[in-house]
Amino acid sequence: MSVLVYVEHADGKFKKSGFEAVAYAKAIADQLGTSLAAISIGNVTEEELGSLSRYGASRILNVGSEQLKTFVNQAYASVIAAAAAKEGADVVVLSNSFSGKGLAPRIAVKLQAGLVDGAVELPDTSGSFRVKKTAFSGKAFAVTEITAAKKVIALNPNAFGVKEQPVDVQVEAFQPEIRGNDLKTVIKDIVRATDKISLPDAERVVSGGRGLKGPENWGMIEELAGLLGAATACSKPVSDADWRPHSEHVGQTGIAIRPNLYIAIGISGAIQHLAGVSSSKVIVVINKDPEAPFFKVADYGIVGDAFEIVPKLIEALKAH
Ligand code: FAD
Repeated sequence: MSVLVYVEHADGKFKKSGFEAVAYAKAIADQLGTSLAAISIGNVTEEELGSLSRYGASRILNVGSEQLKTFVNQAYASVIAAAAAKEGADVVVLSNSFSGKGLAPRIAVKLQAGLVDGAVELPDTSGSFRVKKTAFSGKAFAVTEITAAKKVIALNPNAFGVKEQPVDVQVEAFQPEIRGNDLKTVIKDIVRATDKISLPDAERVVSGGRGLKGPENWGMIEELAGLLGAATACSKPVSDADWRPHSEHVGQTGIAIRPNLYIAIGISGAIQHLAGVSSSKVIVVINKDPEAPFFKVADYGIVGDAFEIVPKLIEALKAH
């Protein structure tokens, strides 16, 4: 039995959620008393590959292919499944990120494996193999037992944390055959609209709702986010009204996030919004209505007008 972890990168730089997946996979390998190999696909430099050793990956399979420079669901799933077969890996770990959500079921089908997506803790391997995961859009937890010999686990970003465990590293080239069918859709290039912190990876998020009245009032949200090193987000009606881009919409039908700090400003806290943000570690709510449902899940609440409170917060942060 061995463990294989797929490490995601963007433009050749590993993502924080990728490092977290390595640390999680290393802990599983240690628990099972087995070895860990990591797989990287695309244009990642030797130096960047070496950075995985900080989190316990002593062997790295490097699939350096021009065809796979950008993420292609079907092809990446085939490559990871081929690596798992070559390694004889019984457990495949990856992040339950946007790409991970597409990859995990495809890998599981190819390996005839049992799948747990949205894992939040290390598996309980005493006797059976049980994994705690989120269920019902983050409103509940479920413990799922995988009875299949092969297992695929997709870890929720920010659920385990990035834990350092330095080891010596050995990088090996891995060139599996890539079938034409796997490359029917190819992303030629990705043009980023902004240089802002990516929402799913953000440690801190400042989010605005309909209480902000209009897009012209987002200057203070961006300023507050800038001072905190945070990403910006919004509620669904805000992106529906084109006040903010759809990529910022969080919730049941938007992105699900788990930052360390979520500041909700002028957002009521409807159940569909909470479904995507309630797993945040610390929630701060600013709302002028003391009865707003968001206060029920808040760690800190400020009842008041956002147009008075946010400028004061900005002033206080600038003073420190
Ligand atoms: P509102 O409900 O209008 O709330 C505005 C809040 O701002 C109020 O609480 C008000 O007291 C406060 N406020 C007003 N003025 C101020 C001020 N000056 N200072 C401080 N506070 C102020 N919503 C999502 O966000 N994400 C989703 O993924 C999502 N998916 C959905 C899926 C379905 C199937 C459905 C039916 C709905 C979904 N919704 C989703 C919509 C959701 O039900 C709510 O309608 C929405 O979240 C409300 O957005 P809001 O809180 O910004 O606006």
